[in-house]
Amino acid sequence: MTDIPHSREQDRDQGQDHDHGKQRLPSDPALRVMALESLLVQKGLVDPQALDALVEAYEHRIGPHNGAKVVARAWKDPAYKARLLTDATAAIAEMGFGGLQGEHMVAVENTPAVHNLVVCTLCSCYPYPVLGLPPVWYKSAGYRSRAVIDPRGVLREFGLELPAEMQVRVWDSTAELRYLVVPQPPPGTEHMSEEQLASLVTRDAMIGVALVRSPATGELP
Ligand code: FE
Repeated sequence: MTDIPHSREQDRDQGQDHDHGKQRLPSDPALRVMALESLLVQKGLVDPQALDALVEAYEHRIGPHNGAKVVARAWKDPAYKARLLTDATAAIAEMGFGGLQGEHMVAVENTPAVHNLVVCTLCSCYPYPVLGLPPVWYKSAGYRSRAVIDPRGVLREFGLELPAEMQVRVWDSTAELRYLVVPQPPPGTEHMSEEQLASLVTRDAMIGVALVRSPATGELP
């Protein structure tokens, strides 16, 4: 494997630990990825710099902090929220986010009467530009099937007990449509800046398995 890009080669060397000179190898999936990557690079099918750029993007630029900015703006700016709920793809693009796996976005708003939960029952469709890479549980068979059959039970396992009178809407993502939950702002945060608000909004809240807590009191909306 002579063509492993420099950064991966270094990672592998660092796998050599101080445990009596024994080599600690990367996990099996990591080795398989490296083998595939070096083969693709050797055959000239992928450009290692393009791969590095992709990894860099998902590690630093693309992630739930993008979605959090969208939600915080919606909380502060009613006109923006109206645009977001009408045409999420365009409103998210206004904030500079979009692209692969986010071409057709729908924003669904939590209210005192309705809670929204997002799943992809078929596979793992997820709004990458605003939430980054999906968590492992999102792709699990258990979450995918049970989110639809027993959403309240699933939410309870995430530590979220919703009042019986609150309606739960489950949105099944597809390759064509990806959903972003706009959680309710927590109490006592009206004075906070958009930036401060964005720091409160979690990935889980934008999938709908959590609510956003007040930073001061821990209170929920
Ligand atoms: Fe899917």
